[in-house]
Amino acid sequence: MSNNQKKGLLVVISGPSGAGKGTIHAGVLQKLPSLKKSISVTTRQPRKGEEEGVHYYFRTVEQYMQMKQNGEFLETAEVYKNYYGTPKAPVMKILEKGEDVIFEIDICGARQIKQIYPESVLIFIMPPSFEVLEKRLRGRATDAEDVILRRLAESKKELATYKEFDYFVVNDEINTSVENVVSIIKSEKCRVERNDAFINELLK
Ligand code: ADP
Ligand code: 5GP
Repeated sequence: MSNNQKKGLLVVISGPSGAGKGTIHAGVLQKLPSLKKSISVTTRQPRKGEEEGVHYYFRTVEQYMQMKQNGEFLETAEVYKNYYGTPKAPVMKILEKGEDVIFEIDICGARQIKQIYPESVLIFIMPPSFEVLEKRLRGRATDAEDVILRRLAESKKELATYKEFDYFVVNDEINTSVENVVSIIKSEKCRVERNDAFINELLK
């Protein structure tokens, strides 16, 4: 994109399972209604209350593989035996219109996004301790014991990648975490390099 084209902001919320990504993502979308949400494709079964095209696009493994082969994804990942992918076309459309988009994806996906799109803003979410993370994973009551233990073990490896991120938000009190992410987004939008198009227009 040229310097005279207004670019949207691409924000990525990531972190270990149970960190609070989904909760924070929902809170931020409520506070910033102009922010667009990227809807991922997944091969996992819908959970109770999840709707097609709202929470995810639910596809078979065959359909997902075909989309991957067609180059329809911006990034993909296998997370706990299911496939996930961010559809490329809707995201590109949002950014080209100068609108902002938020992703809630795993760490592997976040790293891919930073490589493809270095201007993206990567936010790592982590509870105040591994003990709290374990409590929240259990409290969520969506996973079996062996899954919880696997996720906890994985979270230590995931935390080690924090330096690849732009921001680190300790998810202690939920409202504060949401506010912190909202502040990050607002500040990023004021960065000089993100306002080239506007400044060039003023100087015309
Ligand atoms: P993730 O999307 O990262 O897997 P969730 O958003 O599902 O994590 O959060 C995991 C659990 O922790 C959920 O039950 C959620 O309600 C709870 N939770 C999230 N943030 C907080 C917080 N700041 N304080 C207390 N509980 C939280
Ligand atoms: P869940 O199945 O619980 O909704 O999500 C499991 C994990 O997959 C979460 O860590 C979530 O952030 C991640 N995830 C959801 N969509 C995508 C996606 O499109 N790409 C990647 N890389 N991860 C995703």
